[in-house]
Amino acid sequence: MFEATTPLELDLHSPESGAKPTTSLHRRRVPLASPHYQRETLAALDLSHTPHQGNFAAQLAQQGWQPLKPAELEIFQINIGKLCNMTCRHCHVDAGPDRRENMDLETVNACLRAIDQTTAHTVDITGGAPELNPHFRYLVDQCVARGKHVIDRCNLTVLLLPPLQDLPQWLADRNVEVVCSLPHYRKLNTDTQRGDGTFEKSIEALRRLNAVGYGQGNPNRKLTLMSNPVGAFLASGQTKMEQEWKTGLMKNYGIRFDRLITLNNMPISRYLEWLEQSENLQRYMEVLVNAFNPATIAGLMCRNTLSVSWDGRLFDCDFNQMLDLEVQQPANETVSIQQFNLDWLQQRHIKVDRHCFGCTAGAGSSCGGAIEK
Ligand code: SF4
Ligand code: SF4
Repeated sequence: MFEATTPLELDLHSPESGAKPTTSLHRRRVPLASPHYQRETLAALDLSHTPHQGNFAAQLAQQGWQPLKPAELEIFQINIGKLCNMTCRHCHVDAGPDRRENMDLETVNACLRAIDQTTAHTVDITGGAPELNPHFRYLVDQCVARGKHVIDRCNLTVLLLPPLQDLPQWLADRNVEVVCSLPHYRKLNTDTQRGDGTFEKSIEALRRLNAVGYGQGNPNRKLTLMSNPVGAFLASGQTKMEQEWKTGLMKNYGIRFDRLITLNNMPISRYLEWLEQSENLQRYMEVLVNAFNPATIAGLMCRNTLSVSWDGRLFDCDFNQMLDLEVQQPANETVSIQQFNLDWLQQRHIKVDRHCFGCTAGAGSSCGGAIEK
């Protein structure tokens, strides 16, 4: 059975700790819990009537970008665990309170040694809810001491858990950028995706961030909101939405934030399950393939980011990580965070597959939001 507490002695299974509109695929032991099965599900779709029959590599080849190769490494993204206080319907990580995978201290230190070998200016810490990893604060402090820009990808509700209520001030003291996921600035849309009560908790967490100086235009207290569509359609225009959100959140709740980024939902994990169950999968993939935008290729996040999993394996991006597509390995060697080889990583070919159409559709999509601004 699953443990009831985290290393922070929290009961994350309780509804008070965060909404749980579903349970993880992993917990239900359904076929889609397998990354391999997810890839096969996408591969089995008949996209013969779409450009290049829905073959992403062929699309890249036509634009002269195949094989896809990395540019300079700028962002070191560490996914420090799948543990989360929530279980959102659209989660691409299949995170939840039952997921005990958390990065240990040895692997955290291996990440720091690897960071020291790169010129990456940013360390992007994600999860799950990364704040629930007992080594989260150590990792942040070590990255700040190295002069890195640190991003905490935060689900907001986690900031209300009793042992973490000092985090807004703690993060502010270290100039950490907080990138908060919020599906919509309206209650109904947010609670539909993340569960009842999420919106109110998120607003309270945003108030606490505002109270310690986040979201007021200070580059050292940057508050970024991240939104993904509540449905089977592409993210809307980021600039227009940002203005609408700023007005809406200020007028209704007195909340300020600095920037909005919009992401397309990736057809993997629990969002893939939702697409299947709602009979939207075929149509959504057609939308993604037909909306392929060549202008997004140069800015794909896999080109300037390296993604590390909780157990120290290396991936081209967090999506490839969830699909278990490890970085291309050299012939006689295994590359991981413990055996870090930047020279090889800079030469590798990025692994692409059908899910990649989620990154190149419309204005494009990445952890930094739309690619074509
Ligand atoms: S989407 Fe974010 S908050 Fe929701 S379950 Fe996944 S990791 Fe947790
Ligand atoms: S999912 Fe997106 S970021 Fe990841 S490898 Fe594919 S195109 Fe690159």
